[in-house]
Amino acid sequence: MITQTVSTTITKLSQMGDLTLFEPAGDQPSAEHSPHASYQSHSLEECITNVSTPKGAKPVLKSMLTTACERNCFYCPFRAGRGKTRRLTISPDEMAKAFNILTSAKKADGLFLSSGIIRGSVTTQDKLIDTIEIVRNRYQYKGYIHLKIMPGAEDDQLYRAMQLADRISVNLEAPTPERLNALAPKKDFERELLSMLRAAERIRRAHPHEKLANSVTQFVVGAVGDTDLEILSLTQNLHKHARLARAYFSAFNPVLQTPLENTPATDPMREFRLYQSSFLLRDYGWELEDLTFAGVGNLRLDVDPKLAYAQENLTRSPVDLMTAERHILMRVPNIGPKGADAILRARRKGNIRDLGDLRKLGIAAPEKAAPFILLGGKHVPHQIGLL
Ligand code: SF4
Repeated sequence: MITQTVSTTITKLSQMGDLTLFEPAGDQPSAEHSPHASYQSHSLEECITNVSTPKGAKPVLKSMLTTACERNCFYCPFRAGRGKTRRLTISPDEMAKAFNILTSAKKADGLFLSSGIIRGSVTTQDKLIDTIEIVRNRYQYKGYIHLKIMPGAEDDQLYRAMQLADRISVNLEAPTPERLNALAPKKDFERELLSMLRAAERIRRAHPHEKLANSVTQFVVGAVGDTDLEILSLTQNLHKHARLARAYFSAFNPVLQTPLENTPATDPMREFRLYQSSFLLRDYGWELEDLTFAGVGNLRLDVDPKLAYAQENLTRSPVDLMTAERHILMRVPNIGPKGADAILRARRKGNIRDLGDLRKLGIAAPEKAAPFILLGGKHVPHQIGLL
């Protein structure tokens, strides 16, 4: 039975749909996928979004405790003083109750919870944690929870959030203090954001036997002169030293009645190239030097970063699929981790003779890899039809 209070809460939740534009919580396309692939779609319930989580694809309730905020980030529709934004607030108890109704009805299986900041980050973080305590303890929910960490939250709050959630996000928004100052002048890059990602890693190291949430971050791309090189240098560093699970990139889109309303939107292809490159750095063993940056330090929009690498490096020194190590195989366009593993297994049996065999191993469009490979020391014909 849905009470009037819960029904009102669910109505409020659906009215907070704007949040999905600013808080991507699902997996984006991989390094090998098309830029046009959709990574999330909205279900019938406006407040629920189907996202790919570490626990598989789930209908996740994605919401805020409040759309009011005392800060004034220049890109954000929830910034203080923006008249167009409808301010809605839900208490921890109401939110937990509504989520329980949605999970019991099998409408949602996962929660992404964020909030505007009211009465400081610590008070707001307490409310977020209270909500998750109720969800976990009163309603015994064991599924996926992604919890936002407020800038400047305390270490104890961070630890408790990591115990309760599967994933926490500390959104850096920009790659340097100067860029952040141009984007969100009330946020302190080092003290409130970067230090939190480092603190999360210290907590993990101090509690090696506890199951703790992983960390993710997000960048608003292209509003204040930030470069891809700055963004990827920082994410690479955080992958290596703070066990960052992943970075999300959000191409800047101007919002009316904000200081950046006349700043041009960022080409969505830039966001896609950043995703491709970050997967190459995180999952393929690439280093920054392997990526091709042009001009001020941005990735080329006109060419896939793997293809750019192959054209520069593999045309004259093709990779022999019969002898190359796994990380070298993954430098070839259209060969990812699964394809490399399939090649390693197949070549032990000696049965890779042509592009048709590669296709049978699950490598899509192997003719795209053909200019950059050898099979047993010999070039292979580029057209499958010729085989
Ligand atoms: S802290 Fe900044 S980004 Fe977050 S809700 Fe407030 S204004 Fe928006």
